[in-house]
Amino acid sequence: MFISDIFKNKKPISFEIFPPKGELSLESFRETMIPLAKLSPDYISVTCSAGGTGHRDRTAMLAGIIKNEFGIEACAHLTCINSDEKRIIEDVECIKANGIENILALRGDISPGGVPGEFRHASDLMKFIDDDELCLGGACYPEGHVESQKPDDDLIHLYGKQQAGAKFLVTQLFFENERFYRFLEKIRKAGITIPVTTGVMPILGKSQISRMIFMCGASLPSEIIRILNRYENDPDSLCKAGIDYAARQIEDLLKNGADGAHIYTMNRPEIATSILEYLK
Ligand code: FAD
Repeated sequence: MFISDIFKNKKPISFEIFPPKGELSLESFRETMIPLAKLSPDYISVTCSAGGTGHRDRTAMLAGIIKNEFGIEACAHLTCINSDEKRIIEDVECIKANGIENILALRGDISPGGVPGEFRHASDLMKFIDDDELCLGGACYPEGHVESQKPDDDLIHLYGKQQAGAKFLVTQLFFENERFYRFLEKIRKAGITIPVTTGVMPILGKSQISRMIFMCGASLPSEIIRILNRYENDPDSLCKAGIDYAARQIEDLLKNGADGAHIYTMNRPEIATSILEYLK
């Protein structure tokens, strides 16, 4: 099923997982999947390594297991920055051979000193794939992409993604819903009409948050700073408070204009379980 069709009937709750690093144990992947599947998400997306040495076929294979063994709609991420046309054709064939109909088409992060290949932007990838048997999604950035000089540049390029065939958008994580609402208003005014689902990542620890802020420039509201300070030496309470914050954030987003919520599970089913229990 196309993810764009899911948005026609409801505000989907979806999960993101990543392929395990190192040697792949399908048994442990299935162990992660069993509790996630019990939560009946509307779809699960599987990330993809942007580096040249990553096991890119894992994304398609794991997405295939999610769809074909667990009966949950799946989406394979596909990055293009270190790739070429031949490799993208192979990747797309592999995704389709695993029965997957949804691709989150991404550029990927540019590695320091990296030389851009045949694809410079996600929209180039979308135009290249251009396949009626696939539903393409794209990434968007409520607080602007880290490389953007001016917020309006992002807006123009986001419109370009819609023109290039994106049928839905998934946001980068953010912690302040007001920023998302302002972003949504702006993109709707700019003629971007496709559904936007909101990526939410619970805070689980100080080092995770520092890494995220460095990578994507998300701003921290005072409530998160207070949580980080209060539970500095109490990791379990910090994790609990982080999950509670994420659950309240999603509840508010779904009430106020987000087209769906996409939970970055970090392959920890208990996180998604706690959030969904709260939302019930
Ligand atoms: P683009 O859309 O190409 O945008 C990148 C920058 O270029 C932006 O500043 C944009 O404004 C600008 N730009 C876009 N189009 C043009 C144009 N035509 N001309 C000039 N400038 C342009 N990374 C992974 O490696 N693997 C993953 O699985 C993965 N999953 C992700 C999932 C989500 C929901 C999100 C939000 C991000 C994910 N990322 C992943 C990270 C992503 O690859 C990075 O954020 C990357 O830096 C940008 O990817 P993009 O597809 O948005 O690129």
